[in-house]
Amino acid sequence: MASTLHTLKESVPAAVTVKPGVPVDYVSFDGGVRIGTTRLQPDRYRMLESSQRGPTPVISRGAGLSYAAASFSSSAVTIEHNRFNRLLDFDADTRTIEVEGGTPLGKLYEFLTPRGFFVSVQPGHPKITVGGCIAADVHGKNQYRDGTFSSLVVSLKLLHPSYGTLELSQNNEPELLALTCGGYGLTGSIVSAKLKVTPIQSAEVRIRATSIDSIYHLPDALRRAASRSDLVYSWHQFTSLRGKDFGRGTVIEGSFAPTGSSASPQQQRSLSSTKSSLDAATRGRGMPAFFSSLTTAPFNRLYAGISRLGGKDKTIPLYDFLFPVHDKELYFHLFGKGGFHEYQVIIPFSRYQEFMSLVQQRLENQPFPITLASGKLFQGTQKLLRFTGDGICFSFNFPRSSGSLRFAEFLDTLTVRCGAQPNLIKDSRLSAEIVSATYTEYEGFRKMLRAFDPKRSFRSELSDRLQL
Ligand SMILES: Cc1cc2nc3c(=O)[nH]c(=O)nc-3n(C[C@H](O)[C@H](O)[C@H](O)COP(=O)(O)OP(=O)(O)OC[C@H]3O[C@@H](n4cnc5c(N)ncnc54)[C@H](O)[C@@H]3O)c2cc1C
Repeated sequence: MASTLHTLKESVPAAVTVKPGVPVDYVSFDGGVRIGTTRLQPDRYRMLESSQRGPTPVISRGAGLSYAAASFSSSAVTIEHNRFNRLLDFDADTRTIEVEGGTPLGKLYEFLTPRGFFVSVQPGHPKITVGGCIAADVHGKNQYRDGTFSSLVVSLKLLHPSYGTLELSQNNEPELLALTCGGYGLTGSIVSAKLKVTPIQSAEVRIRATSIDSIYHLPDALRRAASRSDLVYSWHQFTSLRGKDFGRGTVIEGSFAPTGSSASPQQQRSLSSTKSSLDAATRGRGMPAFFSSLTTAPFNRLYAGISRLGGKDKTIPLYDFLFPVHDKELYFHLFGKGGFHEYQVIIPFSRYQEFMSLVQQRLENQPFPITLASGKLFQGTQKLLRFTGDGICFSFNFPRSSGSLRFAEFLDTLTVRCGAQPNLIKDSRLSAEIVSATYTEYEGFRKMLRAFDPKRSFRSELSDRLQL
Protein backbone atom coordinates (compact mmCIF):
# COMPACT_ATOMS: atom_id res chain seq x y z
CA MET A 1 0.00 0.00 0.00
CA ALA A 2 2.64 2.51 1.08
CA SER A 3 4.65 1.92 -2.10
CA THR A 4 1.65 2.46 -4.36
CA LEU A 5 0.72 5.54 -2.44
CA HIS A 6 4.09 7.13 -3.26
CA THR A 7 2.55 7.82 -6.63
CA LEU A 8 -0.14 10.01 -5.10
CA LYS A 9 0.87 13.63 -5.04
CA GLU A 10 -0.23 15.86 -2.21
CA SER A 11 -2.14 18.67 -3.86
CA VAL A 12 -1.46 22.21 -2.73
CA PRO A 13 -4.49 23.44 -0.83
CA ALA A 14 -6.10 26.31 -2.69
CA ALA A 15 -6.80 29.52 -0.80
CA VAL A 16 -10.44 28.95 0.05
CA THR A 17 -12.93 30.24 2.52
CA VAL A 18 -14.47 27.37 4.41
CA LYS A 19 -18.09 27.94 5.42
CA PRO A 20 -18.81 27.04 9.04
CA GLY A 21 -21.03 24.00 9.47
CA VAL A 22 -24.69 24.40 10.40
CA PRO A 23 -25.73 22.80 13.73
CA VAL A 24 -27.68 19.57 13.31
CA ASP A 25 -28.82 16.60 15.41
CA TYR A 26 -28.28 13.21 13.81
CA VAL A 27 -29.48 9.83 14.98
CA SER A 28 -28.46 6.39 13.77
CA PHE A 29 -31.28 4.54 12.00
CA ASP A 30 -31.56 2.06 14.89
CA GLY A 31 -32.09 4.93 17.35
CA GLY A 32 -29.04 3.93 19.40
CA VAL A 33 -26.79 6.99 18.87
CA ARG A 34 -27.88 10.65 18.89
CA ILE A 35 -25.29 13.35 18.39
CA GLY A 36 -25.43 17.11 18.00
CA THR A 37 -22.83 18.16 15.43
CA THR A 38 -22.49 20.36 12.33
CA ARG A 39 -23.07 19.74 8.65
CA LEU A 40 -22.34 21.22 5.24
CA GLN A 41 -24.54 20.73 2.17
CA PRO A 42 -22.36 21.60 -0.83
CA ASP A 43 -23.98 21.64 -4.25
CA ARG A 44 -20.95 22.41 -6.44
CA TYR A 45 -17.68 20.46 -6.74
CA ARG A 46 -15.80 23.61 -5.74
CA MET A 47 -17.83 23.77 -2.52
CA LEU A 48 -17.33 20.06 -1.90
CA GLU A 49 -13.58 20.59 -2.11
CA SER A 50 -13.61 23.60 0.19
CA SER A 51 -15.85 21.81 2.71
CA GLN A 52 -13.02 19.30 3.28
CA ARG A 53 -10.49 22.02 4.03
CA GLY A 54 -11.68 23.20 7.45
CA PRO A 55 -9.71 22.76 10.68
CA THR A 56 -11.77 19.75 11.85
CA PRO A 57 -12.11 16.25 10.38
CA VAL A 58 -15.09 15.57 8.12
CA ILE A 59 -17.20 12.59 7.06
CA SER A 60 -19.45 12.05 4.04
CA ARG A 61 -23.13 11.20 4.35
CA GLY A 62 -25.51 9.63 1.84
CA ALA A 63 -29.11 8.95 2.90
CA GLY A 64 -28.10 8.44 6.55
CA LEU A 65 -29.87 5.05 6.51
CA SER A 66 -27.09 3.16 8.25
CA TYR A 67 -28.11 1.48 11.46
CA ALA A 68 -24.75 2.56 12.91
CA ALA A 69 -23.57 6.18 13.28
CA ALA A 70 -21.23 5.94 10.29
CA SER A 71 -21.83 9.38 8.77
CA PHE A 72 -21.56 11.69 11.77
CA SER A 73 -19.58 12.31 14.92
CA SER A 74 -19.23 15.01 17.56
CA SER A 75 -15.62 15.41 16.38
CA ALA A 76 -16.32 15.84 12.65
CA VAL A 77 -18.31 17.99 10.25
CA THR A 78 -20.72 15.96 8.12
CA ILE A 79 -20.69 16.60 4.37
CA GLU A 80 -24.07 15.72 2.90
CA HIS A 81 -23.94 14.37 -0.67
CA ASN A 82 -27.66 14.54 -1.43
CA ARG A 83 -27.17 17.32 -3.99
CA PHE A 84 -24.66 15.21 -5.95
CA ASN A 85 -27.20 12.79 -7.35
CA ARG A 86 -26.81 13.02 -11.13
CA LEU A 87 -26.52 10.21 -13.65
CA LEU A 88 -23.40 11.15 -15.65
CA ASP A 89 -23.00 8.55 -18.36
CA PHE A 90 -24.59 5.30 -19.53
CA ASP A 91 -23.14 2.89 -22.04
CA ALA A 92 -25.36 -0.08 -22.95
CA ASP A 93 -22.54 -1.68 -25.00
CA THR A 94 -20.03 -1.79 -22.16
CA ARG A 95 -22.87 -2.25 -19.65
CA THR A 96 -21.71 0.54 -17.38
CA ILE A 97 -23.26 3.58 -15.77
CA GLU A 98 -21.46 6.49 -14.14
CA VAL A 99 -23.25 8.33 -11.34
CA GLU A 100 -22.53 10.81 -8.57
CA GLY A 101 -22.02 9.40 -5.08
CA GLY A 102 -25.27 10.80 -3.67
CA THR A 103 -27.45 9.04 -6.28
CA PRO A 104 -30.20 6.95 -4.64
CA LEU A 105 -30.62 3.34 -5.82
CA GLY A 106 -34.28 4.07 -6.63
CA LYS A 107 -33.22 6.72 -9.15
CA LEU A 108 -30.83 4.26 -10.78
CA TYR A 109 -33.61 1.68 -10.90
CA GLU A 110 -35.95 4.18 -12.53
CA PHE A 111 -33.41 4.93 -15.27
CA LEU A 112 -32.06 1.44 -15.90
CA THR A 113 -35.12 -0.82 -15.81
CA PRO A 114 -36.92 0.61 -18.86
CA ARG A 115 -33.61 0.14 -20.72
CA GLY A 116 -33.47 -3.54 -19.74
CA PHE A 117 -30.76 -3.34 -17.06
CA PHE A 118 -30.43 -3.34 -13.29
CA VAL A 119 -27.79 -3.01 -10.61
CA SER A 120 -27.35 -6.59 -9.48
CA VAL A 121 -26.41 -5.89 -5.85
CA GLN A 122 -28.99 -3.84 -3.97
CA PRO A 123 -29.68 -3.40 -0.27
CA GLY A 124 -33.33 -3.23 0.82
CA HIS A 125 -34.28 0.45 0.48
CA PRO A 126 -34.45 2.67 -2.64
CA LYS A 127 -33.25 5.83 -0.86
CA ILE A 128 -29.85 4.28 -0.04
CA THR A 129 -27.14 5.99 -2.10
CA VAL A 130 -24.35 4.65 -4.29
CA GLY A 131 -21.73 6.30 -2.01
CA GLY A 132 -23.24 4.53 1.01
CA CYS A 133 -23.30 1.22 -0.90
CA ILE A 134 -19.63 1.48 -1.82
CA ALA A 135 -18.45 2.70 1.58
CA ALA A 136 -20.27 -0.09 3.44
CA ASP A 137 -19.74 -2.64 0.65
CA VAL A 138 -23.36 -3.69 1.00
CA HIS A 139 -24.98 -6.92 -0.15
CA GLY A 140 -28.30 -7.86 -1.74
CA LYS A 141 -30.30 -11.07 -1.90
CA ASN A 142 -27.82 -12.75 -4.21
CA GLN A 143 -24.47 -12.35 -2.49
CA TYR A 144 -23.73 -16.06 -3.12
CA ARG A 145 -23.81 -15.35 -6.86
CA ASP A 146 -23.02 -11.67 -7.45
CA GLY A 147 -20.87 -10.82 -4.43
CA THR A 148 -21.05 -7.48 -2.67
CA PHE A 149 -21.37 -3.97 -4.11
CA SER A 150 -17.60 -3.59 -4.59
CA SER A 151 -17.78 -6.24 -7.33
CA LEU A 152 -19.76 -3.71 -9.44
CA VAL A 153 -17.30 -0.84 -9.11
CA VAL A 154 -15.29 -0.34 -12.30
CA SER A 155 -13.75 2.93 -11.09
CA LEU A 156 -14.49 5.80 -8.76
CA LYS A 157 -13.43 9.38 -8.10
CA LEU A 158 -12.33 10.00 -4.55
CA LEU A 159 -11.80 13.48 -3.16
CA HIS A 160 -9.32 13.95 -0.32
CA PRO A 161 -7.98 17.26 1.05
CA SER A 162 -4.36 16.07 0.86
CA TYR A 163 -4.48 14.48 -2.59
CA GLY A 164 -7.21 16.24 -4.54
CA THR A 165 -9.33 14.06 -6.82
CA LEU A 166 -8.05 10.52 -7.29
CA GLU A 167 -9.36 8.19 -9.98
CA LEU A 168 -9.28 4.65 -8.58
CA SER A 169 -9.68 1.42 -10.52
CA GLN A 170 -8.14 -2.05 -10.70
CA ASN A 171 -5.36 -0.51 -12.84
CA ASN A 172 -4.88 2.67 -10.86
CA GLU A 173 -4.32 2.49 -7.09
CA PRO A 174 -6.11 -0.87 -6.65
CA GLU A 175 -5.18 -1.03 -2.96
CA LEU A 176 -6.76 2.33 -2.26
CA LEU A 177 -9.83 1.21 -4.21
CA ALA A 178 -9.97 -1.90 -2.01
CA LEU A 179 -9.66 0.23 1.13
CA THR A 180 -12.39 2.59 -0.05
CA CYS A 181 -14.90 -0.17 -0.94
CA GLY A 182 -15.96 -1.11 2.58
CA GLY A 183 -13.87 1.75 4.02
CA TYR A 184 -16.84 3.40 5.80
CA GLY A 185 -16.12 6.79 4.23
CA LEU A 186 -12.73 7.03 5.98
CA THR A 187 -10.55 7.39 2.85
CA GLY A 188 -12.39 10.44 1.45
CA SER A 189 -15.54 11.55 -0.33
CA ILE A 190 -16.77 9.43 -3.24
CA VAL A 191 -17.62 12.04 -5.85
CA SER A 192 -18.74 9.60 -8.55
CA ALA A 193 -18.48 5.95 -9.54
CA LYS A 194 -18.67 3.91 -12.72
CA LEU A 195 -20.67 0.72 -12.06
CA LYS A 196 -21.31 -2.48 -14.00
CA VAL A 197 -24.96 -3.08 -14.78
CA THR A 198 -26.65 -6.38 -15.67
CA PRO A 199 -29.17 -7.01 -18.46
CA ILE A 200 -32.54 -8.35 -17.33
CA GLN A 201 -35.23 -10.13 -19.30
CA SER A 202 -38.06 -8.37 -17.50
CA ALA A 203 -38.82 -6.08 -14.60
CA GLU A 204 -40.81 -8.81 -12.92
CA VAL A 205 -39.76 -11.58 -10.60
CA ARG A 206 -41.44 -14.93 -10.17
CA ILE A 207 -41.33 -15.76 -6.53
CA ARG A 208 -41.70 -19.07 -4.83
CA ALA A 209 -42.17 -19.48 -1.10
CA THR A 210 -41.17 -22.78 0.50
CA SER A 211 -41.79 -23.61 4.15
CA ILE A 212 -38.99 -25.03 6.22
CA ASP A 213 -39.68 -26.90 9.44
CA SER A 214 -36.84 -25.67 11.55
CA ILE A 215 -33.97 -23.26 11.59
CA TYR A 216 -31.52 -26.16 11.43
CA HIS A 217 -32.61 -26.96 7.86
CA LEU A 218 -31.85 -23.47 6.61
CA PRO A 219 -28.36 -23.96 5.05
CA ASP A 220 -29.56 -26.86 2.87
CA ALA A 221 -32.78 -25.05 1.95
CA LEU A 222 -30.88 -21.89 0.95
CA ARG A 223 -28.36 -23.89 -1.11
CA ARG A 224 -31.16 -25.70 -2.94
CA ALA A 225 -32.97 -22.46 -3.68
CA ALA A 226 -29.77 -20.70 -4.73
CA SER A 227 -28.95 -23.43 -7.25
CA ARG A 228 -32.09 -22.62 -9.24
CA SER A 229 -32.93 -18.97 -8.48
CA ASP A 230 -31.53 -15.49 -9.02
CA LEU A 231 -32.35 -14.04 -5.59
CA VAL A 232 -32.92 -15.82 -2.26
CA TYR A 233 -33.64 -15.00 1.38
CA SER A 234 -35.58 -16.46 4.29
CA TRP A 235 -37.50 -15.35 7.33
CA HIS A 236 -38.29 -17.21 10.55
CA GLN A 237 -40.36 -17.17 13.69
CA PHE A 238 -38.19 -17.02 16.78
CA THR A 239 -40.88 -16.15 19.28
CA SER A 240 -43.66 -18.68 19.54
CA LEU A 241 -42.07 -21.99 18.58
CA ARG A 242 -40.10 -24.35 20.76
CA GLY A 243 -38.32 -27.70 20.46
CA LYS A 244 -37.79 -29.01 16.98
CA ASP A 245 -40.10 -26.41 15.44
CA PHE A 246 -37.91 -23.57 16.62
CA GLY A 247 -37.24 -21.10 13.85
CA ARG A 248 -39.76 -22.55 11.43
CA GLY A 249 -39.96 -20.24 8.46
CA THR A 250 -40.10 -19.59 4.75
CA VAL A 251 -37.47 -19.46 2.05
CA ILE A 252 -38.36 -16.92 -0.61
CA GLU A 253 -36.67 -17.31 -3.96
CA GLY A 254 -37.01 -15.11 -6.99
CA SER A 255 -36.14 -15.55 -10.65
CA PHE A 256 -36.59 -13.02 -13.42
CA ALA A 257 -39.81 -13.73 -15.28
CA PRO A 258 -39.01 -14.78 -18.87
CA THR A 259 -41.73 -12.58 -20.28
CA GLY A 260 -43.20 -9.42 -18.88
CA SER A 261 -42.26 -5.87 -19.40
CA SER A 262 -38.99 -4.23 -18.75
CA ALA A 263 -40.27 -1.20 -20.61
CA SER A 264 -43.85 -0.55 -19.61
CA PRO A 265 -43.99 2.38 -17.21
CA GLN A 266 -47.44 1.19 -16.06
CA GLN A 267 -46.00 -2.02 -14.71
CA GLN A 268 -43.14 -0.34 -13.02
CA ARG A 269 -42.88 1.00 -9.57
CA SER A 270 -40.31 3.60 -8.79
CA LEU A 271 -38.89 5.78 -6.08
CA SER A 272 -40.92 8.73 -7.32
CA SER A 273 -44.20 6.80 -7.61
CA THR A 274 -44.01 5.21 -4.15
CA LYS A 275 -44.11 7.34 -1.04
CA SER A 276 -41.35 6.74 1.48
CA SER A 277 -41.48 8.17 4.96
CA LEU A 278 -38.37 6.35 6.08
CA ASP A 279 -35.40 8.27 7.39
CA ALA A 280 -33.38 8.09 10.56
CA ALA A 281 -34.59 11.44 11.93
CA THR A 282 -38.32 10.69 11.75
CA ARG A 283 -38.35 6.91 12.23
CA GLY A 284 -40.78 6.12 15.07
CA ARG A 285 -41.52 9.79 15.79
CA GLY A 286 -44.81 10.18 17.67
CA MET A 287 -45.29 6.38 17.84
CA PRO A 288 -45.42 4.50 21.10
CA ALA A 289 -43.10 1.48 21.13
CA PHE A 290 -45.32 -1.41 20.02
CA PHE A 291 -43.04 -4.45 20.20
CA SER A 292 -42.74 -6.24 23.54
CA SER A 293 -42.75 -9.82 24.82
CA LEU A 294 -46.57 -9.70 24.69
CA THR A 295 -47.05 -8.30 21.21
CA THR A 296 -44.19 -9.75 19.15
CA ALA A 297 -45.34 -13.39 18.94
CA PRO A 298 -48.90 -12.52 17.79
CA PHE A 299 -47.44 -9.97 15.36
CA ASN A 300 -45.14 -12.64 13.87
CA ARG A 301 -48.02 -15.12 13.58
CA LEU A 302 -50.21 -12.51 11.92
CA TYR A 303 -47.44 -11.65 9.44
CA ALA A 304 -46.92 -15.36 8.65
CA GLY A 305 -50.69 -15.75 8.10
CA ILE A 306 -50.91 -12.72 5.81
CA SER A 307 -47.90 -13.96 3.82
CA ARG A 308 -49.55 -17.37 3.38
CA LEU A 309 -52.72 -15.69 2.09
CA GLY A 310 -50.59 -13.96 -0.54
CA GLY A 311 -49.92 -17.39 -2.08
CA LYS A 312 -46.80 -19.51 -2.49
CA ASP A 313 -46.04 -18.69 -6.10
CA LYS A 314 -46.65 -15.36 -7.75
CA THR A 315 -45.11 -12.76 -10.03
CA ILE A 316 -44.28 -9.37 -8.55
CA PRO A 317 -42.51 -6.22 -9.79
CA LEU A 318 -38.72 -6.41 -9.43
CA TYR A 319 -38.95 -3.18 -7.40
CA ASP A 320 -41.02 -4.96 -4.74
CA PHE A 321 -38.58 -7.84 -4.56
CA LEU A 322 -35.47 -5.68 -4.34
CA PHE A 323 -36.95 -3.20 -1.89
CA PRO A 324 -39.46 -5.27 0.12
CA VAL A 325 -39.43 -2.67 2.87
CA HIS A 326 -40.86 0.10 0.68
CA ASP A 327 -44.46 -0.81 1.54
CA LYS A 328 -43.70 -2.13 5.04
CA GLU A 329 -42.04 0.93 6.51
CA LEU A 330 -44.53 0.91 9.38
CA TYR A 331 -42.52 -2.01 10.81
CA PHE A 332 -39.59 0.31 11.59
CA HIS A 333 -41.87 3.03 13.00
CA LEU A 334 -43.47 0.48 15.36
CA PHE A 335 -40.27 0.40 17.43
CA GLY A 336 -41.01 3.99 18.46
CA LYS A 337 -38.37 6.65 18.87
CA GLY A 338 -36.42 4.44 21.29
CA GLY A 339 -35.48 2.22 18.37
CA PHE A 340 -34.26 -1.30 17.92
CA HIS A 341 -31.20 -3.43 17.36
CA GLU A 342 -30.18 -5.32 14.29
CA TYR A 343 -27.59 -8.00 14.85
CA GLN A 344 -26.39 -9.35 11.51
CA VAL A 345 -23.67 -11.95 11.40
CA ILE A 346 -22.00 -14.31 8.91
CA ILE A 347 -21.87 -17.71 10.58
CA PRO A 348 -19.44 -20.22 9.03
CA PHE A 349 -21.34 -23.27 7.71
CA SER A 350 -19.39 -25.59 10.04
CA ARG A 351 -20.52 -23.69 13.17
CA TYR A 352 -24.07 -22.82 12.10
CA GLN A 353 -25.87 -25.64 13.98
CA GLU A 354 -23.94 -24.83 17.17
CA PHE A 355 -24.69 -21.09 16.87
CA MET A 356 -28.41 -21.67 16.38
CA SER A 357 -28.73 -24.29 19.14
CA LEU A 358 -27.17 -21.82 21.60
CA VAL A 359 -29.60 -19.12 20.43
CA GLN A 360 -32.49 -21.57 20.85
CA GLN A 361 -31.36 -22.56 24.37
CA ARG A 362 -31.09 -18.95 25.40
CA LEU A 363 -34.49 -17.97 23.99
CA GLU A 364 -36.22 -21.00 25.53
CA ASN A 365 -34.72 -20.18 28.94
CA GLN A 366 -35.08 -16.42 28.71
CA PRO A 367 -37.71 -15.51 26.09
CA PHE A 368 -36.92 -12.30 24.24
CA PRO A 369 -38.98 -10.60 21.52
CA ILE A 370 -37.21 -11.24 18.21
CA THR A 371 -39.28 -9.22 15.76
CA LEU A 372 -37.48 -10.42 12.64
CA ALA A 373 -35.11 -13.30 11.96
CA SER A 374 -33.85 -13.65 8.41
CA GLY A 375 -31.17 -15.57 6.53
CA LYS A 376 -29.16 -15.30 3.30
CA LEU A 377 -26.55 -17.48 1.68
CA PHE A 378 -23.03 -15.97 1.50
CA GLN A 379 -19.99 -17.04 -0.47
CA GLY A 380 -16.61 -15.35 -0.79
CA THR A 381 -13.40 -14.36 0.91
CA GLN A 382 -13.44 -12.00 3.86
CA LYS A 383 -11.01 -9.04 3.41
CA LEU A 384 -10.26 -5.94 5.51
CA LEU A 385 -13.47 -4.84 7.29
CA ARG A 386 -15.87 -5.92 4.55
CA PHE A 387 -18.95 -7.85 5.54
CA THR A 388 -18.48 -10.85 3.30
CA GLY A 389 -17.27 -14.44 3.47
CA ASP A 390 -18.55 -18.01 3.37
CA GLY A 391 -21.55 -18.94 5.51
CA ILE A 392 -25.08 -18.07 6.48
CA CYS A 393 -25.73 -14.38 6.91
CA PHE A 394 -28.32 -14.16 9.65
CA SER A 395 -30.12 -11.09 11.02
CA PHE A 396 -31.95 -10.62 14.29
CA ASN A 397 -34.11 -7.55 15.00
CA PHE A 398 -35.27 -6.78 18.52
CA PRO A 399 -36.61 -3.72 20.32
CA ARG A 400 -34.25 -1.49 22.26
CA SER A 401 -35.20 -2.22 25.88
CA SER A 402 -33.70 -2.78 29.29
CA GLY A 403 -32.62 -6.35 28.37
CA SER A 404 -31.67 -5.74 24.77
CA LEU A 405 -28.03 -4.81 25.37
CA ARG A 406 -27.54 -8.04 27.33
CA PHE A 407 -29.05 -10.03 24.46
CA ALA A 408 -26.80 -8.28 21.92
CA GLU A 409 -23.78 -9.02 24.12
CA PHE A 410 -24.85 -12.65 24.30
CA LEU A 411 -24.84 -12.71 20.48
CA ASP A 412 -21.36 -11.11 20.57
CA THR A 413 -20.07 -14.04 22.64
CA LEU A 414 -21.56 -16.56 20.18
CA THR A 415 -20.06 -14.62 17.28
CA VAL A 416 -16.56 -14.77 18.79
CA ARG A 417 -16.96 -18.39 19.88
CA CYS A 418 -18.16 -19.57 16.44
CA GLY A 419 -15.64 -17.59 14.36
CA ALA A 420 -18.43 -15.47 12.85
CA GLN A 421 -18.31 -11.81 11.70
CA PRO A 422 -20.80 -9.13 12.81
CA ASN A 423 -21.90 -6.41 10.38
CA LEU A 424 -20.35 -3.06 11.43
CA ILE A 425 -22.86 -0.94 9.50
CA LYS A 426 -25.88 -2.63 11.11
CA ASP A 427 -24.98 -2.35 14.80
CA SER A 428 -24.46 1.00 16.51
CA ARG A 429 -23.00 -0.52 19.68
CA LEU A 430 -20.36 -3.01 18.47
CA SER A 431 -17.08 -2.53 20.31
CA ALA A 432 -13.51 -2.37 19.00
CA GLU A 433 -12.82 -5.46 21.10
CA ILE A 434 -15.45 -7.56 19.29
CA VAL A 435 -14.52 -6.27 15.85
CA SER A 436 -10.78 -6.88 16.37
CA ALA A 437 -11.56 -10.39 17.67
CA THR A 438 -13.72 -11.29 14.67
CA TYR A 439 -12.05 -9.55 11.69
CA THR A 440 -8.58 -10.97 11.10
CA GLU A 441 -7.54 -7.91 9.03
CA TYR A 442 -8.72 -5.31 11.57
CA GLU A 443 -5.13 -4.18 12.29
CA GLY A 444 -4.28 -4.31 8.59
CA PHE A 445 -7.19 -1.94 7.84
CA ARG A 446 -6.01 0.53 10.52
CA LYS A 447 -2.44 0.45 9.21
CA MET A 448 -3.47 0.97 5.59
CA LEU A 449 -5.71 3.87 6.57
CA ARG A 450 -2.90 5.56 8.51
CA ALA A 451 -0.40 4.99 5.70
CA PHE A 452 -2.76 6.75 3.29
CA ASP A 453 -3.94 9.48 5.64
CA PRO A 454 -1.70 9.99 8.68
CA LYS A 455 -3.79 13.04 9.68
CA ARG A 456 -6.98 10.93 9.78
CA SER A 457 -9.01 13.62 8.06
CA PHE A 458 -12.24 11.54 7.94
CA ARG A 459 -13.88 10.43 11.17
CA SER A 460 -17.23 9.20 12.42
CA GLU A 461 -18.74 7.90 15.64
CA LEU A 462 -18.25 4.41 14.13
CA SER A 463 -14.55 5.01 13.44
CA ASP A 464 -13.99 6.55 16.90
CA ARG A 465 -15.82 3.72 18.68
CA LEU A 466 -14.00 1.02 16.70
CA GLN A 467 -10.66 2.84 17.07
CA LEU A 468 -10.07 2.78 13.33
C1 LIG B 1 -34.50 -0.56 5.28
C2 LIG B 1 -33.04 -0.87 5.12
C3 LIG B 1 -32.67 -2.01 4.45
C4 LIG B 1 -31.30 -2.31 4.30
N1 LIG B 1 -30.95 -3.46 3.64
C5 LIG B 1 -29.65 -3.76 3.50
C6 LIG B 1 -29.25 -4.94 2.80
O1 LIG B 1 -30.08 -5.71 2.32
N2 LIG B 1 -27.92 -5.19 2.67
C7 LIG B 1 -26.98 -4.34 3.19
O2 LIG B 1 -25.77 -4.61 3.04
N3 LIG B 1 -27.32 -3.21 3.85
C8 LIG B 1 -28.63 -2.92 4.02
N4 LIG B 1 -28.98 -1.77 4.68
C9 LIG B 1 -27.91 -0.91 5.20
C10 LIG B 1 -27.50 0.14 4.16
O3 LIG B 1 -27.38 -0.44 2.89
C11 LIG B 1 -26.13 0.74 4.50
O4 LIG B 1 -26.10 1.21 5.81
C12 LIG B 1 -25.74 1.86 3.53
O5 LIG B 1 -24.41 2.22 3.80
C13 LIG B 1 -26.64 3.08 3.70
O6 LIG B 1 -26.34 4.01 2.68
P1 LIG B 1 -26.63 5.56 2.86
O7 LIG B 1 -26.69 6.17 1.54
O8 LIG B 1 -27.80 5.72 3.76
O9 LIG B 1 -25.28 6.01 3.59
P2 LIG B 1 -25.03 6.67 5.02
O10 LIG B 1 -25.76 5.89 6.06
O11 LIG B 1 -25.26 8.11 4.95
O12 LIG B 1 -23.46 6.39 5.17
C14 LIG B 1 -22.98 5.07 5.26
C15 LIG B 1 -21.47 5.07 5.13
O13 LIG B 1 -21.13 5.46 3.81
C16 LIG B 1 -20.29 6.59 3.81
N5 LIG B 1 -20.66 7.39 2.66
C17 LIG B 1 -21.90 7.72 2.23
N6 LIG B 1 -21.82 8.46 1.10
C18 LIG B 1 -20.50 8.60 0.83
C19 LIG B 1 -19.77 9.27 -0.19
N7 LIG B 1 -20.36 9.93 -1.19
N8 LIG B 1 -18.43 9.22 -0.12
C20 LIG B 1 -17.78 8.54 0.85
N9 LIG B 1 -18.42 7.88 1.82
C21 LIG B 1 -19.77 7.91 1.82
C22 LIG B 1 -20.55 7.27 5.14
O14 LIG B 1 -19.43 8.04 5.55
C23 LIG B 1 -20.79 6.08 6.04
O15 LIG B 1 -19.57 5.54 6.48
C24 LIG B 1 -30.31 -1.44 4.84
C25 LIG B 1 -30.70 -0.28 5.51
C26 LIG B 1 -32.07 0.00 5.65
C27 LIG B 1 -32.47 1.23 6.41
